[in-house]
Amino acid sequence: MRRFLIAGNWKMNGLGGEAVALAEGVSAGADAGVDWLVCPPSVYLAEVIGQLRGSKVSVGAQNVSEYDFGAYTGETAAGMLVDVGCEYVIVGHSERRALFGESDQDVGAKAARAVIHGLAPVVCVGETLAQREAGETERVVVGQLEAVAGALGVAGMQDMVVAYEPVWAIGTGLTATPEQAQEVHAVLRETLHGHDVALAETTRILYGGSMKPANAASLLAMPDVDGGLIGGASLKVDDFLAIGRAAN
Ligand code: PEP
Repeated sequence: MRRFLIAGNWKMNGLGGEAVALAEGVSAGADAGVDWLVCPPSVYLAEVIGQLRGSKVSVGAQNVSEYDFGAYTGETAAGMLVDVGCEYVIVGHSERRALFGESDQDVGAKAARAVIHGLAPVVCVGETLAQREAGETERVVVGQLEAVAGALGVAGMQDMVVAYEPVWAIGTGLTATPEQAQEVHAVLRETLHGHDVALAETTRILYGGSMKPANAASLLAMPDVDGGLIGGASLKVDDFLAIGRAAN
């Protein structure tokens, strides 16, 4: 039985006081029926983790270096994220792929580095509008997932979370219909099944892309949608908590 995971990607928003206040609000309202995760900007990870100590809310980073400790100016090592108390890290977000040129290979290397250090990777996959319209959705998302699977192997994928995030739905107000999401989630689960039957059963596949209280219940009702990766709505305590309630 997979538990819902409701994850907030705060991206590069807010200053420290706002991050702590947001964390405080989420922890005060987070009920026990689902798992909760927030991913603040890296400079505020320690403060947010301090605020959430003893709460039901886990903390993840938004990015990690594919390299280990050493002369990599500006990078953050997976071991450092673990040291401050992170449990998860997002890899392969479409903004990192599009704006920072991260390839499938880079994403696989980052996921592998995370797993070596005991972080659970939240692996984002998703097609652009042009790819969807060209009928390439399945090829794209399976290719993105297979690149990570190749880097991790079955043993390395045990704690992995997958997030299907159609690029055309991120921050645009457009959302995949529940049926569109379910179709892709089923393909992703089938891909995992090809690696290991038990892995396919246990891996949580989140939907991300303009998820909000108004559309969460219908998306989360789909059999292969195991939670949400939420951007904009995760910056509003009430909306984020309402999405968690919709999961229940
Ligand atoms: C995201 O960036 O992961 C995301 C899903 O953003 P939004 O909810 O704002 O579309």
